[in-house]
Amino acid sequence: MPKQYLPLLGKPVLNWSIEAFKNHPLVSNIIVVIHPDHEQLFKSAAPGIKYVTGGGTRQQSVQKGLTALRPAKPDIVLIHDAARPLISNTLITDLCQAAIKSDAATPALPVTDTVKRNGKTENREGLYTAQTPQAFRFDLIDKLHQKYQDKSLTDDAALCEAEGHPVTYVPGQSDNIKITHPADLARAEQYLASRCNDVRTGQGYDVHRLVPASGGRKLMLCGIAISHDHVLEGHSDADVGLHAITDAILATIGAGDIGQHFSDNDPRWKNADSATFLKHAAALVAQQGGIIAHVDVTLVCEAPKISPHRTAMQQRIAEILRLPVQRVSVKATTTEGLGFTGRREGIAAQSIVTTRLPFVITASEQQTEEQRKWAS
Ligand code: MG
Repeated sequence: MPKQYLPLLGKPVLNWSIEAFKNHPLVSNIIVVIHPDHEQLFKSAAPGIKYVTGGGTRQQSVQKGLTALRPAKPDIVLIHDAARPLISNTLITDLCQAAIKSDAATPALPVTDTVKRNGKTENREGLYTAQTPQAFRFDLIDKLHQKYQDKSLTDDAALCEAEGHPVTYVPGQSDNIKITHPADLARAEQYLASRCNDVRTGQGYDVHRLVPASGGRKLMLCGIAISHDHVLEGHSDADVGLHAITDAILATIGAGDIGQHFSDNDPRWKNADSATFLKHAAALVAQQGGIIAHVDVTLVCEAPKISPHRTAMQQRIAEILRLPVQRVSVKATTTEGLGFTGRREGIAAQSIVTTRLPFVITASEQQTEEQRKWAS
């Protein structure tokens, strides 16, 4: 599996990069340049995102991306390495502002380690490491890519250097690491988890009526079709388990309930697979830079027996939410013959979900935004 497609806290590395730009108010267009062999991988990882296939070298790939952007006539373009998934909102803003002022901007960090070359200590004064994204006035970098297409350079700022065009350095981000080795993935996971220290808990509850099975309709519970003499009645597939989990996820971000997002009167959701609802709720959390830490659901019914299906349910929920299976719990109970579940009139489900959102980062970014307003 190419590193850009490896899973990182519930989604491929590449998607963290895509979402950082997609959710940024200054960004209106995203083109991903992919390896020609990765088309299928890309389409399943990032459906609906525009892409072009790359060339033989990094530089040729960037050039193909720029060519694809020309019709959109952007003022500024940011060129990013998708293997750096931890790029922050603030850095994107800073780069855009610097590129508007000076046509070219690169995030850079001063070298703090002692640098040795061939057994000799180098003077690290003035040494920086460059990161991505790098931001440019579109017309400038597009022109330089055509002019210097035969040169092989390791980043796009180097094209400006070749032209003698100044590049503004903006402070880089120490956790904007590049996934190169397997250990980097673990490090990225830690950075993301430490950013997401706003822990939320949401609760969901749902009930659907049981009716005799007819017309080939299956009993759907937690994403699994079960053969049973009764099925759940509802506008969608009536998967009471997935509905409770969806509500619990929505609750963690104060996003209302499932009925607000997927109306019972909307013909699009007639007999719909409830996995769609669950994915939507998870996407809303992801849009806020959050992650789902844990899902617990309890099914309340006399029949069918849940235990034979429990593992499959756990796996299906984990698959829909792209979570490790250990982070999903499915339980079942009867009500000892009492109440509507005891009389087998319906099935109830309760869920508790824990999500983690970037609390500190969001707060400091808002503050920075306010400071900017003051400054301007
Ligand atoms: Mg429901």
